[in-house]
This record gives sequence, C-alpha cells and structure tokens, in this order.
Amino acid sequence: MLIILKRGSGNKEIEQVVQEVQAVGYRAHVSEGEHTTLVGAIGKGPTPELIEHFRALESVQDVIPISKPYKLASLEVCPKPTVLRFPTGATGGGEVMVAAGPCGVESLEQTLSAAHYVRRHGAQMLRGGAFKPRTSPYSFQGLGQAGLEILAQARQETGLPIVTEVVAPEQVDLVAAYADVLQIGARNAQNFALLQAAGQSGRAVMLKRGMSMTLEEFLMSAEYVLAQGNMKVILVERGIRTFEKSTRFTLDVSAVPVLKSLTHLPVWIDPSHAAGRRDWVSALALAGLAAGADGLIVETHPEPEKALSDAAQQLTEAQFAELMQRIRALLPALGRQLTRELEPV
Ligand code: PEP
Ligand code: MN
Repeated sequence: MLIILKRGSGNKEIEQVVQEVQAVGYRAHVSEGEHTTLVGAIGKGPTPELIEHFRALESVQDVIPISKPYKLASLEVCPKPTVLRFPTGATGGGEVMVAAGPCGVESLEQTLSAAHYVRRHGAQMLRGGAFKPRTSPYSFQGLGQAGLEILAQARQETGLPIVTEVVAPEQVDLVAAYADVLQIGARNAQNFALLQAAGQSGRAVMLKRGMSMTLEEFLMSAEYVLAQGNMKVILVERGIRTFEKSTRFTLDVSAVPVLKSLTHLPVWIDPSHAAGRRDWVSALALAGLAAGADGLIVETHPEPEKALSDAAQQLTEAQFAELMQRIRALLPALGRQLTRELEPV
C-alpha cells in the first residue's frame, strides 16, 4: 500500500510512519517529492484493517492499495525516475548512455582494442561476457575469471565502467568483485535465486527481458532484485520470440513507452541480439532511442567475423563509429543528448 503523508511532514513524521510500517512486518520505501512524501509499504496484500490502521495515523493524509503486482518497480511507489550514476555518466535522467563492446571477452588484445575504440567513438560503458550462457554446451563458454581480469584491465586503461554477465548465483560474489554492473541475461531472467543474489551484491543490475516474457513478468523479475533493497536496476528490451524469422528476435520497441509508463527504472535497448545481423543493428538502435530508451547496449568486435560468439551481429569498428554519429544526429531532434562526451585517453 502507498501511504501519503500530510503536507509539511518532516523527518520525525516520516520516521514514525516507517517504524509503524516495519512494526507490522512490511518493508518501507520512502519517496520524498516537492510537496508530498510517499511511503510505500511492501508486504503481503494488506487487509482492510491494516489500511484503516495507517489511515488513522496523525501524519497520514491517505492510504492507497498498490494496484500492480510489482511494487518497488512501480511508478506508484516511486514516482521519480531512478537515475544511476557512473564515473562516465548517468542513466535514467533523460540523457542517453551507451554500453558497447564484444559479446564475449576472448583475449586481452581483443578486449583492450574494443575498449579503446568504443570510448573514442562515444560509449560510456564497456560490455563483454566472461561467463557466456550458450545454447550449446559445446560452444565457447567464456574465459571465466581470466576474462574478468581482462575487463578490469580494460577499465583501468580506459576508465569505462564494466557490464558483464553473471550466470549462476554462486558466481555473483566473484563477478561483483570485478564488475560495475551485473548483467542478467535473457536466459536467466527468471532465475529467481540469481536475481536475489545479484540484488544482495549491491551492484547495479542490468536485467535483460526473457525472450518469452510479458512486461509484467519482466517487472516482477526486477522486483526480485529491488526487494533485496537494491534499487539500481536497468531494464533491457533485447527482442522477443515471435513467428517472424528474418531477425533473430523481434525487437519490441513498444516495450519502451509501455515500461516507462509503468516503472521509474531506466529502460535500455539491445539492438544487437534482436537484429542478429550487423547491418540491421543501427536501425533498431535508433528506433529504440526515438521511442524513449534511456540507453543502448551494443555488440562490437575488432574482427567480428572471427568472434567466438554472436559473430553475425557484432558491429565492426567503422559501423560502431557510424552508429554513434547517427545517434548524435538524431538526439537533438528528440531534445536529448549523450550523457557525456568523454575526453580521449
Ligand atoms: C549477451 O549480451 O551477450 C547475451 C547473451 O544477451 P541475451 O541474454 O540478451 O541473449
Ligand atoms: Mn551476445
């Protein structure tokens, strides 16, 4: 339920209400607006008696049951956009952030090369998988911890924060020791133990939409992270399964405005896994931004044709540079800009 405090309520009143919420075994989430303070009380469906109990408190204006099954993810509980800040920029506050890099970390040379050129062309974050969730057990599974070491070196050299995937709950501590952002992939989007462990790590979490997930299910997965007290979640639309086979997945562009009407969390687009082919990636990336996405995560490889995973969809350096130029051309028409243009290193 959502507890609306009376105008003029201060810290003392907020604290009293929070204590009342905790006393009945609920979690409290305070959202202070310019004029009103909201306290989200999150727990099992409140009884009418409990709602009345809170309505009767001195500093409470009104109590509204939260209609959505997801609570902390909803705009009702948290009406202000969540902004995640990194040393290279921010996401969620209207400006556009770009994470780019190879699908998988394959070698020091490949990763450093990609890290340097994605920064030079305008990305603010480096992506690269050290643990790869592959459809076939015989495919390249990633370099594991050695890959994380390489990513750490790339961050050291370029200053770019790292987003990298974690595929199992028992690996969360290891990956979180290296990563700035933990990626949870489409195939693990309903791995609830993994979501909880990632939530507990305190790291930001980039959650991909499962390929056959409804948006409500997607938000419920985010809720697993948020329920651990970790509000740093980025949602990524990366294409869903439909009857259309031309692309690898169908990018659900409509997920962007729909999610943004339901949640305060940043919403990103992954055009690479949706397109499945490098020549279609840019069009989808621009469509996502035009629809209001807060950021992009794009695959690019110094030698895409030699990539050990997702070779067909990774952009060449030249294609990535061109995409960034097209983004810079588009954003002013949308009244937006890149979160930051980084100085060369
Ligand atoms: C990836 O980012 O390389 C990846 C495997 O993505 P997804 O989980 O969206 O398929
Ligand atoms: Mn990939």
